[in-house]
Amino acid sequence: MKIICIGRNYALHAGELNNPLPEDPLIFIKPDSAVLRNNQQFFYPEFSKDVHYEVELVIKINRIGKNILKKFAHKYYKDIGIGIDFTARDLQQKCKEKGLPWEKAKGFDGSAPLGKFIDKNTLPDLRNISFRLDLNQKTVQEGQSKDMLFSFDSIIAYISQFFTLKIGDLLFTGTPQGVGPVKPNDHLEAYIENKKLLDFKVK
Ligand code: ZN
Repeated sequence: MKIICIGRNYALHAGELNNPLPEDPLIFIKPDSAVLRNNQQFFYPEFSKDVHYEVELVIKINRIGKNILKKFAHKYYKDIGIGIDFTARDLQQKCKEKGLPWEKAKGFDGSAPLGKFIDKNTLPDLRNISFRLDLNQKTVQEGQSKDMLFSFDSIIAYISQFFTLKIGDLLFTGTPQGVGPVKPNDHLEAYIENKKLLDFKVK
C-alpha cells in the first residue's frame, strides 16, 4: 500500500504558507509506516520542534489502474475518509531552502493518522463535502471539497500517469487553510459532514 499526497490543493492554504499556486498537482509520497489507525496516539517526534496538523480528505483506491482517464476516475474509489498529514514544518523549511525532497518532514512514523471511511454514495455531493478539524474542542480548520484546485477525479487521472494505483492505496487530497502546531496532550477530532471519524491524542 502506498500513500500519495497532494500539496497546495487549496488556494488559501498555499497563500498562508506563501507558496505559489501549482500548475499541475504537487505530489509527494508517505510510506505505509506513516499510518496510524484506530485512533492510536501520535508520539511527538524528537527531531522536530514544530509539527503541524493538516486535515485532509482521503480517498481509498479500490481498483488497479494506470493512465486512468478523468471521465472514468470515479470508478476507482468508493470510500472517503479523513486523515492528518502531520508535517515537521521546521524540517520541511530546511529542505525547501536547500531544494531537497520533503520525505523526512512529511513521511515519518505516525505522520498519517487515518480515520474511519464512509461510502461516498452516502454523501450528498462529492464536489461539496464539508470537513473540519477540532483541536482541544475548538475548530481550527474547516474545508469544502469544492475549493480544491484539482478534483478527486483530476488527481487520479494525473497521478496514474506516473504511478500504477493499486487496491488499498490512499490519496491525501490537500489541506485547507488554518494549519498550525500541535503539542503533547493535544486532542484532535476530525469530521466529515459533522460525523466524527477520527479522534486521537498527541503524546
Ligand atoms: Zn498536506
